[in-house]
Amino acid sequence: MPGVNDPAVCRELAAALAREVSSPVRFMEVCGTHTTSVARHGLKSLFPPALGLVSGPGCPVCVTSPGQVQAVLDAAKRSGVILATFGDLVRVPGPQGSLEQARAKGADVRVVYSPTNALDLARNHPDKTAVFAGIGFETTAPAVALTLLQAKDEGIDNFLVLCLHKRIIPALKALADHPEARVDGFLLPGHVSVVLGAEAYEQADLGLPGVVAGFGAGDILLGLLLLARQANRGERRVENAYPRTVRTRGNTRAKEAMDRVFEPADAQWRGLGILRRSGLALREEFSGLDAEKRLGLTVPSLDEPPGCSCGRVLVGAMAPNQCALFETVCTPSSPVGPCMVSSEGACAAWALHHPLNPRKGHP
Ligand code: SF4
Repeated sequence: MPGVNDPAVCRELAAALAREVSSPVRFMEVCGTHTTSVARHGLKSLFPPALGLVSGPGCPVCVTSPGQVQAVLDAAKRSGVILATFGDLVRVPGPQGSLEQARAKGADVRVVYSPTNALDLARNHPDKTAVFAGIGFETTAPAVALTLLQAKDEGIDNFLVLCLHKRIIPALKALADHPEARVDGFLLPGHVSVVLGAEAYEQADLGLPGVVAGFGAGDILLGLLLLARQANRGERRVENAYPRTVRTRGNTRAKEAMDRVFEPADAQWRGLGILRRSGLALREEFSGLDAEKRLGLTVPSLDEPPGCSCGRVLVGAMAPNQCALFETVCTPSSPVGPCMVSSEGACAAWALHHPLNPRKGHP
């Protein structure tokens, strides 16, 4: 029996979607992997004209605010600090430059593939302080929580986390009411849902239709078809179209680890400003491993780079090619904003893969 991503099934789903969407409707995908997948598969060329799909704040690097980028840069510049981070953050330009530029001037900035790599840096360099820049949603936060528990168990006190993690549900609730987003439903993120479970969105009552979807072409078309059906019927339910991976209750162990280490806190988002209880802060018990407290760091309120419209792109108010800098000043090889830096960013996805971009694939 062919799977949902079989080409023949994809064609049937595209035809069913075309039949279902007869009047204008606008959905948002809130996962960077969906953004990339839609662009790579050229799915928008299969959509009925009345269907709009906009990208939301699903790319972890993109939603990291200019002030948070500055705080990471400030940590990297401290004497005796090894700043460990995932690769994309290194290239994000901040008001005082990027981590890549700080490294060229002598800061010890290392790209790691997991928080445990950063803990190893602390173990191997007892005379230094290893600071891990903790960004991303509930997808990455459990691994950071487990690493902090490990550091505490081992009594390692030269491992710190600059905790900039975000919670996806407060952002969805903000977007459901956002005057510029104007969305009729959410294609819910597959990866985050593996941890949170489909029930988390039901409990949050988003006020709009939501469908948890996987990342293949057929997964996404099926998710959009279910959203369109709900919209036509006036329903506002959460459906799980990715049951082969996402369970109703999610990953209980991962959620327990997060609850043990983190508590909700207000957080800055690029594009959405400060949202109440939309971030994660270390609980008091872990304050000794909190980079913000130990190094006396602050997260300032800063503007985006001049001319950059990432904030509006991230709330679906603007398509990447509507930014005046898109592929003129801002390109994948010379990015101005994080949406062009990250491989999961909407601007990079347009520049590299979008069928309407005649220069696609030319960084
Ligand atoms: S094209 Fe560049 S400057 Fe414009 S919104 Fe995208 S990343 Fe920001």
